[in-house]
Amino acid sequence: MGDLAGKVQSGQNYSVAHIGSLEGLEQFKGGKLFLKEDLNLTGTEISLNRMAAGTETPFSHKHKQNEEIYIVVKGKGQFLVDGEMIEVQEGSVLRVATDGDRAWRADPEEDMYFICIQAKQDSLEQWTATDGILVQRPVSWPK
Ligand code: ZN
Repeated sequence: MGDLAGKVQSGQNYSVAHIGSLEGLEQFKGGKLFLKEDLNLTGTEISLNRMAAGTETPFSHKHKQNEEIYIVVKGKGQFLVDGEMIEVQEGSVLRVATDGDRAWRADPEEDMYFICIQAKQDSLEQWTATDGILVQRPVSWPK
């Protein structure tokens, strides 16, 4: 069980979390909510992150197997990857390979919100249309 007890709904082939406003992420340790356990993710780890204005990660890190994709959804800040500083803001999407030594900080005046997706580097074999299967019947919404 993850951090979202009571906020997750699931069916045979889905699970959905109702997290509410991303500002509420401050209630989780480090402003970080991991979703793997609550949503039973099997190919990725995803975290939702709120970094308060003027704060930074207390360490830098790399990964053993997983690349990370950071999607900034609100606010702005900077990433440091192998000593190179990268400005990010709402709409920035940054991929860091396993061996990238990374750290980040929020803007001094503005919180930064981002989604981080971890997936095994070089594992993707099919994507978009090559993995989709068109179901041969009309879509029928419940009344
Ligand atoms: Zn990481």
